[in-house]
Amino acid sequence: HSKRKGTGEVSLFRQDFADAVSKRVKLEEQLRNAIKQNEFELYLQPQVNVESKPTGAEALIRWRQSDGRFVSPADFIPLAEETGLIVPLGYWITERACQILQQWQQNPDKAKMQLSINVSAKQFQQPEFVEQVQLLVEKYKIQPHRLKLELTESLLMDDISSVTNKIKRLKRLGIEFALDDFGTGYSSLSYLMQIPFDTLKIDVSFVRNMLDSREKAQIVHTIIQLGESLKLNIVAEGVETEEQFNYLTRLNCDTFQGYLFSKPVPESEFLADKTAP
Ligand code: C2E
Ligand code: MG
Ligand code: MG
Ligand code: MG
Repeated sequence: HSKRKGTGEVSLFRQDFADAVSKRVKLEEQLRNAIKQNEFELYLQPQVNVESKPTGAEALIRWRQSDGRFVSPADFIPLAEETGLIVPLGYWITERACQILQQWQQNPDKAKMQLSINVSAKQFQQPEFVEQVQLLVEKYKIQPHRLKLELTESLLMDDISSVTNKIKRLKRLGIEFALDDFGTGYSSLSYLMQIPFDTLKIDVSFVRNMLDSREKAQIVHTIIQLGESLKLNIVAEGVETEEQFNYLTRLNCDTFQGYLFSKPVPESEFLADKTAP
């Protein structure tokens, strides 16, 4: 009896596994097609200063399937990384960001803004990554310091000397760097000191619970102080309430991003005059 039950569990597990695999294979196929058909769009989420004035934006990719459904980047970026599809996709993201920056340069309201893009480990590891970015900056004639690359701590762990080397080459061109989701990974102070980041982004998980948890508040406080002593710009992610904004302002945080100011919006709606017809 118990043996039969065991077998049943195994086949149930196999069924689940088979379902998961076929779902994944299907998503991979759809992703491959999406790249060919260009079903992606960069949405922009403003970043604001203490006066709530926009200083730039983060580009966040959106995949709108042919049936109109959106697939979250949290669901397809990991798959794109595993399959290597992030390489062509990441190139598309970088080029699209440069096109947006070129447009902004011709608009006095936006000419001084920075645009941040998220760069995946696999993309960054490509031997030609530095040259590709350089060529795009030249092609679109953008001021390099308007473009900021967001990297995560896990990427730094890969091969610290090769990563540092690439960052330094891009910094020499004028490109800026942000360390994304700071505090969630394993990066240590020694990494931070070795790598010339311009910006630290406090992860949304700290900001979310900051007002209910002394521990989270202390972490936020410490990150901001660390940023100050390293002379980095500090961006708080996921700011949703006035209370969070006020608290962060009192701690001397200088840049804010979150639903309180705006959700990510299509490029055409970014800082569009909503009173216009
Ligand atoms: P991330 O880079 O840390 O982006 C911040 C995420 O927080 C975004 O989710 C954004 O929509 C969300 N967010 C912003 N404000 C708030 C808020 O006030 N409350 C809450 N709850 N969330 C907020 P999104 O767009 O779903 O992206 C998720 C992650 O997917 C990103 O995290 C990034 O790691 C990755 N991703 C997004 N776009 C790209 C891309 O173009 N390239 C790569 N490589 N990764 C991307
Ligand atoms: Mg980011
Ligand atoms: Mg983040
Ligand atoms: Mg994240």
